[in-house]
Amino acid sequence: MTNEFPQTLTIAGTDSGGGAGVMADLKTMQERNVFSTAVIVAVTAQNTLGVQDFMALPAKLINEQFASLAADFKIRACKTGMLADAEHVRLVVANLKKYDFGPLTVDPVMIAKGGAALLANDAVETVKQELVPLADVLTPNLPEAERLTGLTIDSAEQMEAAAVALQQMGAKNVLLKGGHEATPDKASDFVLLADGRSFWLTAPRIDTVRTHGTGDTLSSCITAELAKGADFETAIRLGKDYVTAAIAHTIEVGHGHGPLNHWA
Ligand code: PLP
Repeated sequence: MTNEFPQTLTIAGTDSGGGAGVMADLKTMQERNVFSTAVIVAVTAQNTLGVQDFMALPAKLINEQFASLAADFKIRACKTGMLADAEHVRLVVANLKKYDFGPLTVDPVMIAKGGAALLANDAVETVKQELVPLADVLTPNLPEAERLTGLTIDSAEQMEAAAVALQQMGAKNVLLKGGHEATPDKASDFVLLADGRSFWLTAPRIDTVRTHGTGDTLSSCITAELAKGADFETAIRLGKDYVTAAIAHTIEVGHGHGPLNHWA
C-alpha cells in the first residue's frame, strides 16, 4: 500500500548549523515516527553563535516544491517556520489554500535567540492578517505574541488575555510559550483550545544556554502527532514533554547556544 505511512510537511528555512529550522524539524519528525517532506523558503548561513546571513528562495522554485509534494505525497499535517518576508508569507498562504496538507501548525518565527531578524518587520501585519487565520495551532513565544497582539505580556493573566486575542485573530488552538519570562521558577506555557477549554503546561526550570531550536522542535512534534491522528490537546501535551526532555539532554556541539539532543 502506498501513502499510508504518516507524512508531514515543514515549510521553513534551513540552519546550516543543524540545530534549528528545517534540520530540527526533520530530526524531530523522524524521532516521532513520521515521514517528513520540506519546502525550503529560505537558506541561512548559521551556527550556534548566530545567524550570519540568509536569503529567501525565488517564488517559482517555492511554488514548484509545493507542486512536487502535492503530486506525490499524502501529507496529513504541516507546519510553517521561518518565512523571511511579506512576499514569502503571501506565497506560502496561497499554496496552503491551493493544496490540502491537513492541520496547520504555525510557529510565527520572528527573531532568533541570537537577535537576528528571520522575518522582516513589515511582514508581521501580513502574518497576522493572512497566516494566523489559517492556523489550527499557533505557537508564539512571548515577544512574538506581543508583536502580533500589541499587548505587553509580563504576567500569567496577560498571557491568558493574549491567547484570547490571538484566537480572536483566527487561530483555532493557541499554545503561548511563556518560558521563564512570566513565571521565573518554572517554564510555563498557556494553552487555549478551539472549544474554549484552557490549561497551563509547566515544567521545572532547566538552566542551560543550549536551547537553540526549541520552538522548531516543539512545533514539529505537535505536527508529527497530528499526522498520526492525535487530537490537538494530546499533540500539544506530547510536544511539550518532548521538548522538555530534549532541553534536559543537550549535547556539547559548537561554541554558543548549542543544539538539542534529538535522541533524548
Ligand atoms: N534559524 C531558523 C531557520 C529557524 O527557523 C529558527 C527558529 O525557528 C531559528 C534559526 C532560531 O532558532 P532559535 O531562536 O531557537 O535560536
